[in-house]
Amino acid sequence: TIGGAPPSTAENDHTRKVVPMSKDALQDFMVSIITQKLQDEKLPFYVLDLGEVVSLMDQWNNALPNIRPFYAVKCNPEPSFLSMLSALGSNFDCASRAEIEYVLSLGISPDRIVFANPCKPESDIIFAAKVGVNLTTYDSEYEVYKIRKHHPKSELLLRIKPMDDANARCPMGPKYGALPEEVQPLLRAAHAARLTVSGVSFHIGSGDADSNAYLGAIAAAKEVFQTAARFGMSKMTILDIGGGFTSGHQFTTAATAVKSALSQHFHDEPELTIIAEPGRFFAETAFTLATTIIGKRVRGEIREYWINDGLYGSMNCVLYDHATVTATALACMSNRGNVNCGGSKTFPSTVFGPTCDALDTVLRDYQLPELQVNDWLVFPNMGAYTKAAGSNFNGFNTSAIVTHLAYAYPS
Ligand code: PLP
Repeated sequence: TIGGAPPSTAENDHTRKVVPMSKDALQDFMVSIITQKLQDEKLPFYVLDLGEVVSLMDQWNNALPNIRPFYAVKCNPEPSFLSMLSALGSNFDCASRAEIEYVLSLGISPDRIVFANPCKPESDIIFAAKVGVNLTTYDSEYEVYKIRKHHPKSELLLRIKPMDDANARCPMGPKYGALPEEVQPLLRAAHAARLTVSGVSFHIGSGDADSNAYLGAIAAAKEVFQTAARFGMSKMTILDIGGGFTSGHQFTTAATAVKSALSQHFHDEPELTIIAEPGRFFAETAFTLATTIIGKRVRGEIREYWINDGLYGSMNCVLYDHATVTATALACMSNRGNVNCGGSKTFPSTVFGPTCDALDTVLRDYQLPELQVNDWLVFPNMGAYTKAAGSNFNGFNTSAIVTHLAYAYPS
């Protein structure tokens, strides 16, 4: 069975039974959406595969059973996706008042939120105090003063800068994290302000990050625990290992690195709660984007197509997230013999986004079959840092792109 409303809660057995969709099932689902709802307007849309989310959560729980995920909402705040993650037991990392509001509006309690932005506007801190979000990160003395003034009940995690995140597609180190020589003054500042520093957080960098970076970061976190103990501060109980996880074989490598570093450095901390802030891991592969070809030009062998989403919309990930996107014609997606697939011949193709900016070019020199205006072009793995950061430049409004939920049971 595919399509329809999502299974509602983890207690509901269905939630655990759904499986990732096959390419055939996904193709059928997209065709049914187009035929039933989008025949005339042909607007782009996403499909969220709930079975993929279940599978990813199973992979997380199997590989890192003692590490509680706090999904990073910024990566993709789609409400049905957040609800599914919540039903599967995830907690949430929020970066702003608005993200806290999204999560609370889904009926999720504030103690399942970490306000993981080391530099928050004062108004957001006041809001966190009001709604009872009582765990946040910091990496500057000025943050201590703001929190002391507006939310003295909040517990703190000292965000440190890991040494080795240079390989990540999006390094975080240039912007966030205390340097080793800043750790002591920052602990003392919080202590003097009578704030509780409950633990340490870091982020090794996002996208293709080097799993070995977890080793250095976890070792550095342990040194902060020891420094705090030497100062006679109350015992730290939380280690937040941040995000940076990618699904697939890289996840296995990362989980092995994390477990090995934890057993080396934190085996003597039985009271420790370990949390993480995965974004990309849960979002990337769960969403598939379907776009329509709205224009075509032939220049010799080269085929040029315009589609109705682009670099100012969902594919902003090419610029901001340094991502590479891939595309398949909807008719060519399945393994069932591609009768409507434009034949077996392919052409070097350029795919442009809809805006009038030449920068808005999604794919270049990309092999595609002969396609026509109104055909659909499908982009897999489009869940991470896509729609969330899109704009409405030229009036093409990313936030109007609708997500359809799909799930499949094992056949
Ligand atoms: N936590 C924080 C504080 C972040 O800034 C980010 C990404 O920017 C994440 C978690 C999620 O990172 P990822 O998607 O690499 O797991």
